[in-house]
Amino acid sequence: MDASVLVVGNQPFLVTFLDPIRNIVSGSVEVSSYLDDVLSWIQNQQTAVLIVQATQLGSLEVCRQIKQQANCGWIYCILIDDQPNMLCESLLSDRCRESIASAEALEGGADAYLRLTSAQTGDPVAALAEHRLLKAQIQAGLRGVEFYHKLQQINDVLSTLALADPLTELNNRRAMEWELRRQIENARNNSTSLSVIMLDVDYFKSVNDTYGHQVGDRVLQILAARLQHNLRIQDTLFRYGGEEFLIVLNQTSLQEAQAVARRLRRIIVDQPFNIDGKLALEITISLGIADLNSTDDNKGESLVRRADRNLLLAKSSGRNQVVYNEDC
Ligand code: GH3
Ligand code: MG
Ligand code: MG
Repeated sequence: MDASVLVVGNQPFLVTFLDPIRNIVSGSVEVSSYLDDVLSWIQNQQTAVLIVQATQLGSLEVCRQIKQQANCGWIYCILIDDQPNMLCESLLSDRCRESIASAEALEGGADAYLRLTSAQTGDPVAALAEHRLLKAQIQAGLRGVEFYHKLQQINDVLSTLALADPLTELNNRRAMEWELRRQIENARNNSTSLSVIMLDVDYFKSVNDTYGHQVGDRVLQILAARLQHNLRIQDTLFRYGGEEFLIVLNQTSLQEAQAVARRLRRIIVDQPFNIDGKLALEITISLGIADLNSTDDNKGESLVRRADRNLLLAKSSGRNQVVYNEDC
């Protein structure tokens, strides 16, 4: 077992449990006597299992807080009650009290509650059974955490695939919808400007019709790479669909966006597209720009619509040009 375990308890607790836990776990075992440090500790470490002495004040509260945090809620929390039974007058049997304590621990955020008292009672048979139970619980915790991490890795791969366009390797339209909403929220919170450019390859169908779809695909790849290469750090390029691309220009006024669009138009038209050393195609693009205004919706639908209308105007005005105002 190659993962980190954090053990928190008072000195007698640590003296009793540290060596057995170290024998069970092959990864690192960290120790603390202070519950206050636990949250900040696990934020910075790869803790997989937390083992806390149940009688420490606030032990359950720490488990509850861990479970509430998105970045560490998967940590497996084991509470160990090492207090021997009290000889007290009570209507409840020890078994019953143990069940209630266990239920409270699980309800409160712990993943397991273990009553391990053999070190206090000195019962060797119980000690063997308790060691086996402790080992099984730690293994269950590590298994669960390992499974969670594998799922998270798969999730990361799937998210990347879901948001990427396989042909151009740009972010796709789904990614754009997510990112644009985020950028609009940022721009509004920080009172900064935001613009978008919608651009489309002119007469692209004739490229496909004349040279075939594979050449058309190469044109899209070269175009994407050339645009990407010539964008500023704050600009994000997306393949919107087909031969249409959208650029989100963070902290950019309409005027600045015009300068970016004009530059992009030039870098496409100025240099023919070299298709595998066999063809040199002259490609042009049309571009429509819009900037965020106070009446735009939070998703960016109206903003993109205005940029698209300007793109259509650029097309109907002869193509290979930039349009930034619906009225021009
Ligand atoms: P316009 O100047 O008005 O934009 O004319 P256009 O020919 O570029 O536009 P149109 O909408 O008539 O044709 C776009 C073509 O783009 C049709 C479609 O088959 C092609 N296309 C869309 N996606 C891809 C792709 O991934 N690869 C290739 N090779 N072609 C694509
Ligand atoms: Mg086109
Ligand atoms: Mg199009």
